[in-house]
Amino acid sequence: MMGSLIISTGDELLRGALADTNGAFLAALCDDMGVPCARMAIIGDDESALADLLSDAIGRYVLVLCSGGLGPTTDDVTTRAVSRAFGVPLERNPLARAQVEERFRQRGRAMSPINLKQADLPVGAVVLENPAGTAPAFMMTASGTRAVFLPGPPVELQAVMDRHVSAIFPSGVGPSRVVLRCTGEGESILQERMMPVETAFPGVRVSYRASFPEVSITLSSADPVPLWQCREKAISAIGESLFSTDGCSLAERMIGLLTERRLTVATAESCTGGLISHLLTLVPGASACVRGAVVAYDNAVKTSALGVPEEVLRTKGAVSEETVCAMAQGVCQSLLADIAIATSGIAGPTGGSADKPAGTVHIAVVHPLGILHRKFLFNGINRTRVIAASAAAALKMTLDLLENR
Ligand code: ATP
Repeated sequence: MMGSLIISTGDELLRGALADTNGAFLAALCDDMGVPCARMAIIGDDESALADLLSDAIGRYVLVLCSGGLGPTTDDVTTRAVSRAFGVPLERNPLARAQVEERFRQRGRAMSPINLKQADLPVGAVVLENPAGTAPAFMMTASGTRAVFLPGPPVELQAVMDRHVSAIFPSGVGPSRVVLRCTGEGESILQERMMPVETAFPGVRVSYRASFPEVSITLSSADPVPLWQCREKAISAIGESLFSTDGCSLAERMIGLLTERRLTVATAESCTGGLISHLLTLVPGASACVRGAVVAYDNAVKTSALGVPEEVLRTKGAVSEETVCAMAQGVCQSLLADIAIATSGIAGPTGGSADKPAGTVHIAVVHPLGILHRKFLFNGINRTRVIAASAAAALKMTLDLLENR
């Protein structure tokens, strides 16, 4: 049998009015869980087309993940298609009904009889509670194929997968894997460094995924012994661009370390415009260590809110070591933080000069033992990438400091 089949349903997808982010999310998850996606299909709100696709998939794929069409409206055809493909009638499922009713009760909304359609599931369906919406997800099994039907809205789909991941993915189906996350170096440089490791461990599959400003390197093998040895060699081959061996993001890792050490952080952001603070506050538990942020874009704000001397701005410029260090010191004092991060740079593509081309970024980190400054030159053609790279570099610099690297 083949790995997984991922089906995304909806006329909006076929018209190009919506990008299939559910499919990409599920494919990455299947890969991580060791049941790689063998085929992805997009079909419209078409009961017969979905029923045919499902009939064909039963007994052929280990896992089918199908999203969309679980709502109560007439264009929501998934349950009827499943009923046809699996050859079982629909019935009102008491567990699904209780979940739909409970969800409406929690939201204080009146339920119309039409919403009960969401509780009409094929006979034999295993209900998977949807913690983020009204339509319960469900799972069917036939001829060795497990088929899971998921709500279309991405937050609901991800909440269902999160809650039921161990019920959905059969245990022990795939190889063990290790994900190494890196930043600051491109995919090709990392691949070059990994070449001798790949040669030394032919039984370990190494795959690279670039998602700027990060690269993830996944090592997988059915045998955990070479996998572990390969992991150790890979860690030393990759060097200082590695920031996580357990799947954590830069911001998650930083919040974890700050919380552990009871340290607080503040940011003073010019070219990153608050992105560092945003990344940090996306992490649950950030309130334990994030003091706040000052977005000081204009020079006057750098002076009034952060105390950067006008003289420094006039003689050295806003994009300089002196300014960024003064910004970090200023925010550290005013927001009473243990650690302060400051950025000032030319995000481009315009605004550069011969001595400060677009992509020039200064970053400073104030910490209990002093102050660290670094100057970067990113590729100034793409503004979004310069900003993202600056935020990642600032987090990485701080992380290295916290880890005494
Ligand atoms: P609802 O009860 O909201 O109708 P549903 O399970 O029937 O949920 P759909 O009607 O198919 O799901 O989709 C609802 C919304 O979810 C879409 O309008 C779209 O915004 C989003 N969505 C659906 N499928 C995808 C997809 N493959 N990728 C990204 N977003 C999607």
